[in-house]
Amino acid sequence: MSVFSHPEFRQHEQVSFFQDEKTGLKAIIAVHNTHLGPALGGCRMWNYESDEQALRDVLRLSRGMTYKAAITGLPLGGGKSVIIGDAKKAKTPELMKAMGRAVETFGGRYIIAEDVNTSVEDMNNINSQTKHVVGVLHDGEGSGDPSPTTALGVYTGLKAAVRYRLHRSDMRGLKVAVQGLGNVGYNLCKLLHKDGAELFVTDVQQDKIAQAVREFGAKAVTLDDIYKQDVDVFAPCALGAILNDGTIKALKAKVVAGAANNQLAEARHGDVLRDLKILYAPDYLINAGGLISVYYEHAARASGKKYDRAQVEAHVRKIDETSESIFRRAEADGISTSAAADRIAEQRFQSPAASTAA
Ligand code: NAD
Repeated sequence: MSVFSHPEFRQHEQVSFFQDEKTGLKAIIAVHNTHLGPALGGCRMWNYESDEQALRDVLRLSRGMTYKAAITGLPLGGGKSVIIGDAKKAKTPELMKAMGRAVETFGGRYIIAEDVNTSVEDMNNINSQTKHVVGVLHDGEGSGDPSPTTALGVYTGLKAAVRYRLHRSDMRGLKVAVQGLGNVGYNLCKLLHKDGAELFVTDVQQDKIAQAVREFGAKAVTLDDIYKQDVDVFAPCALGAILNDGTIKALKAKVVAGAANNQLAEARHGDVLRDLKILYAPDYLINAGGLISVYYEHAARASGKKYDRAQVEAHVRKIDETSESIFRRAEADGISTSAAADRIAEQRFQSPAASTAA
């Protein structure tokens, strides 16, 4: 398996492979860039079909974290980790502790957090081996589950996009198709429902669909049909690379705003969306709520202060003005919103001295 010549390799500072025979741990940790600060990023556990797929995922995701920290105005770099295996069968406290020991070898250059298929409990197990972990409870205090804060950020970016593209601020009657009803998707539905939006939902897990139908009066949709719904907004909240030639053609929505990381299958799909006048709210900006939350937890811990939720929410709400400035820059420069966001982020992490808070 090649690393340096891998198509997703972009000057990553460090890519490390770990295995622990006793617990069955097989993991990859990638640190993309630390110019703005230590690399902070989640740990995803997934039953990858091949090691190559796991490497591809960790390279893409870690790079995404560098851009996310930079666009959000946080003094952090980008990193990510993946554990190869079926979380339902292979995850044990011992396996997570082995992961904690792997993280400890980075000496603070990589800080681990939750992601798909990992939980607060997992982070607590990791915390028994290393202090370079966020999203944990310390004596009952800490940021805990970042998903509600991520959902708040997604909702903030979604509303900014709806205002810009559809010229409406009232969410009542807004039709939104939500793909994936996990930690973030469910909380996003809750916020949308509270403000009167009409929901169309899908998930691979039928019980989650049933819950959304019951609690939010959502319309259940099949996995393939979610793209084709006659809605205002498509909100991808499951996995990445779902905006591709096939799915974009099917979209009727004029706004795409969701939580999933790396939604564009290829960078050119940002231009395809722009050509179709579909406004894409860049994923790594609007899903940064969780990162903002854990950053403040990390900073509070380092300075011996209390985690301040109001400070976190105030930073998350800045996603509104950052989104709007990206939409305006894209329009002015005649480029896609994803390219506009990339340009701003790159300016920041490539010349840290010029970096200012979002
Ligand atoms: P999760 O695992 O809790 O939820 C994902 C949901 O998607 C699950 O309910 C799963 O059954 C469903 N799903 C899987 N494949 C699907 C498919 N093909 N079609 C429809 N549904 C499918 O994860 P989460 O924490 O809610 O995160 C969702 C996405 O947002 C991920 O891409 C994650 O990386 C990203 N994200 C999460 C956070 C966070 O704070 N949790 C922060 C930033 C980004």
